Amino acid sequence: MNCLRCNSEMKYLKEYRFESQDNNRGFFAAVFDYEEHLIFDVYVCSKCKHSEFIYKGTLSGLDAIID
Ligand SMILES: [Zn+2]
Repeated sequence: MNCLRCNSEMKYLKEYRFESQDNNRGFFAAVFDYEEHLIFDVYVCSKCKHSEFIYKGTLSGLDAIID
């Protein structure tokens, strides 16, 4: 996976989970208005620090809706 900004290779950082009780979801709260745990893989560019969140799914299964 290459960076969209500088085309350098992006490094896998961690798995990130958004909790429904977290008031700091911001952008994601607007996009995903669900009472679920949203799971993303986070990748960061080692050169320009651009980051990508790759949606993986939820703990309670919303694949049919997202897909
Ligand atoms: Zn980059």
